[in-house]
Amino acid sequence: MPTKGQPMSSKPTAETRRTVQRRDRYRCAMCDRETGSHWSGDSIHHREPRSHPFDRLHQPENLLQLCGSGTTGCHGWVHAHPARAYRLGYLVHTGKDPATIPVYYRTGGWQQLNKDGTRHP
Ligand SMILES: [Zn+2]
Repeated sequence: MPTKGQPMSSKPTAETRRTVQRRDRYRCAMCDRETGSHWSGDSIHHREPRSHPFDRLHQPENLLQLCGSGTTGCHGWVHAHPARAYRLGYLVHTGKDPATIPVYYRTGGWQQLNKDGTRHP
């Protein structure tokens, strides 16, 4: 848990990343490609990039495992096609709770992402 008064890290903790990896089965949510073996911070997509409240930014329900970086692969696609990404739940409008907005997974279909790092159809 982040401590009040300390600046938020610009990246999720290693523990949160592992939680998201496991939840998304080490695969890209969009194309189902395996991403776990070359996991890096760049592969974590923030659904609500400027989250309010800010402490929601690095929570599991706001994070999605995508292949590529901010400019390549599926991660790049999301940022290049925001209108479609919002419809599929890959992006969430600022101020909305990402836990209430389902995400479309290529394998598994629409899934609700829970705050505890699990997901359900
Ligand atoms: Zn992908």
